[in-house]
Amino acid sequence: MTQVTRTARRTHTFSESVIREMTRVAREHDAVNLAQGFPDFPAPSVLKDAACAAIQADVNQYAITWGTASMRAALERKYLDWYGMQVDGAREITVTCGGTEAMAAVMLALVDPGEEVIVLEPFYENYGPDAVLCEAKPVFLPLEAPDFRLDLDRLRSLITPRTRAIVVNTPNNPTGRVFDRDEMEGLAAVCREHDLLAITDEIYEHILYEGTHHCLATFDGMRERTVVVSGASKTFSVTGWRVGTIIAPAPLTDAIRKVHDFLTVGAPAPLQEACAVGMNQLDRSYYADMVEGYRERREVLVPALQEAGFKCGPPEGAYYVLADFSELSRDEDATTFAKRLTREGGVASVPGSSFFSEPERGRSLIRFAFCKRVETLHEAADRLRAFTGRGG
Ligand code: GLN
Repeated sequence: MTQVTRTARRTHTFSESVIREMTRVAREHDAVNLAQGFPDFPAPSVLKDAACAAIQADVNQYAITWGTASMRAALERKYLDWYGMQVDGAREITVTCGGTEAMAAVMLALVDPGEEVIVLEPFYENYGPDAVLCEAKPVFLPLEAPDFRLDLDRLRSLITPRTRAIVVNTPNNPTGRVFDRDEMEGLAAVCREHDLLAITDEIYEHILYEGTHHCLATFDGMRERTVVVSGASKTFSVTGWRVGTIIAPAPLTDAIRKVHDFLTVGAPAPLQEACAVGMNQLDRSYYADMVEGYRERREVLVPALQEAGFKCGPPEGAYYVLADFSELSRDEDATTFAKRLTREGGVASVPGSSFFSEPERGRSLIRFAFCKRVETLHEAADRLRAFTGRGG
């Protein structure tokens, strides 16, 4: 490679996002896309109307870098209403370009090169590269199928003097686990004992079928050491709007805001206005209906997968099913199987290997997203049965 075409070493250790790649493969083969987690149904009208109104009202220039006043006020109310958490919008909130920028900005702002970040595995594919981008070392804590429960002894055994933070994603992508109170108490205890930061990805906080969503920041001694990441994408079905949120204590927020400012200046101004309207105007019935919608979809996809010969159970939260295909194909690895299923079966999924540090651990797993219209899921179910030759 000549000097001008060489690329930075930090990009060499991670590859293109497999999730996004599978969306492209799905398009090539006209497959039903159950790969990337984005809804194929409309966002709530109240948000769409508010976005159009904001644009027409010429809210078209940069917003305040850390978020519009309306959005920060709506977030103060949200955290008080849902979690009893007092949040100061002037000093503790940053609005970002989606949860993805939020996670990256948080790590760049708070983790030094050479420090370690514990990531629970299987994990959403961005966390490893996020750590690498700040020249930190991701340290993976495997959670074992099928329960994916947190093993605190194992967690403790991974902690070193270099451990800076632990990333916690509940409800979880891709397993669908919702950590229970005991697991959260355990996490809080470990963070307190070892003076660790918790970075919580709570983007699926409102999508749960079983259990309760516990916000780690509300546990004893955790508010000052927890950075809460969430956003509008999943709750309001607006993944393309790129509106993410960070709640963190003021000294951490100071650093996060600087990184965010230099990375992106700010999240889209009119869309922040619209998200604020959504948060303010949609009441609990919206959230309950959304969950019911996803429960119905879960009840179409999970039995269809089981009938078609996959081993899987219903997730407790989020909108993914991690399914084992070893009874359908012993020789193929997850990528080979997922690509063949897309090509020949017309259903796109994500190979499980992309959620593990050692791809071998996800060799027989693929992830299906069910944030799709019920008709889309029925179509996928028919195609899956035809592909495997099983089920009615
Ligand atoms: N979170 C979604 C998923 O896991 C979308 C990922 C993405 O493309 N940013 O599929």
